[in-house]
Amino acid sequence: MSKEENLQCSFCGRKKPETDLLIAGLDAHICDKCIEQAHGIVEEEIAEAKTSDLSKDLTLKKPREIKAFLDEYIIGQDQTKRAMSVAVYNHYKRLLQTRDDEDEVEIEKSNIVLVGETGTGKTLVARTIARMLNVPFSIVDATVLTQAGYVGEDVESILSRLLQAADYDVEKAERGIVFIDEIDKIARKGDNPSITRDVSGEGVQQALLKLLEGSVVNVAPKGGRKHPEQKFIEVNTKDILFIAGGAFSGIDRIISKRLNMQAVGYSASVEEDKIDHDNLLQYITPLDLKSFGLIPEIIGRLPVLSYMNPLDEKTLRAILTEPKNSIIKQYTKLFAMDEVTFEMTEEALQFIVSKAVEYKLGARGLRSLCEAILTDAMFDMPSSDEKEFKVTKEYAESKLTKSALKKLRAAS
Ligand code: ADP
Repeated sequence: MSKEENLQCSFCGRKKPETDLLIAGLDAHICDKCIEQAHGIVEEEIAEAKTSDLSKDLTLKKPREIKAFLDEYIIGQDQTKRAMSVAVYNHYKRLLQTRDDEDEVEIEKSNIVLVGETGTGKTLVARTIARMLNVPFSIVDATVLTQAGYVGEDVESILSRLLQAADYDVEKAERGIVFIDEIDKIARKGDNPSITRDVSGEGVQQALLKLLEGSVVNVAPKGGRKHPEQKFIEVNTKDILFIAGGAFSGIDRIISKRLNMQAVGYSASVEEDKIDHDNLLQYITPLDLKSFGLIPEIIGRLPVLSYMNPLDEKTLRAILTEPKNSIIKQYTKLFAMDEVTFEMTEEALQFIVSKAVEYKLGARGLRSLCEAILTDAMFDMPSSDEKEFKVTKEYAESKLTKSALKKLRAAS
């Protein structure tokens, strides 16, 4: 036998002729079969290490803790914060279930749908959850989506954004969170399946289905530096958490009608005299989403349904100062950078809230109102010797002229 043929794999002992490939190291050889096996072991170890990392994270975040984190940033909306905390906890538990679990109980995804007027904090809730989990987060507007082949964006573009947010790390993206805004705008018109082609409604819902339930999707990287040569990147949506939000304007009438019918029938679950007609959203059920025009399959893929309360004066007042990064805290910091002590009196804060209500500007308007009041001071103070700035109601009134308010309303 030649010397060459005598060489053998230092791991399994196979002689060179018995292998397809034998690679030489410094003092040892390894055959193709052992390389494959070793590769398998490495993959397994890496996967296991990741799972245990995740479980370490999870032990830190029980639903109560998730909610406590949300409380720091979001005022009120308790029912949604609780529902979200549980959904997110279960979602990440689901990621921890090992493939070889023998009981065959597969935990399904807990995608979420949030119903509530614009500006009530739906995006904020989704964004805050993503921040807490430190996972990639992207927001897409359902109104720009169209069925494949039509002018507009394909639903796959949702994942392009998520990839971008994950800096093209596919594995990270596959554990991210996507907020689909204005999901109500892709409702089909009317409860009966329409005969006419419905490019931006039902067609998009159908296309969304496969993303929501979990599938491998080819995604165009759109300018990713890391994969310039690749036309498509495969993304598995199985572990991506989808949170959909929408105002569903008019759904209160659907709820009211359903409640009235129930009250007439024997199976009244909510007694008519106890119904809070000012906030009917609290009685929302998946059935109402169906009546609004979401297809049952989509509703089934968004099993967690919660609602946002309208913001009253008390809540708006709290939003100004209480969240960890509240608007007023941000201004205080900005002024402090110029060594100016900034303060706003309670009357001034109340005045801002009353204007936000009067001009129907909502929570988003609070910032524009503050901006209108404070811009002059932010322009002048850095160059002056003044080290204190106290905003009184009179000062706020003087800056918020009728025309300034009209402009804000037009912009909202
Ligand atoms: P939506 O997605 O429901 O239209 P957003 O989440 O975009 O509303 O809310 C708009 C802004 O209003 C947020 O950035 C936040 O500053 C403020 N806001 C709304 N609701 C709340 C809330 N409950 N707590 C704290 N801030 C809120």
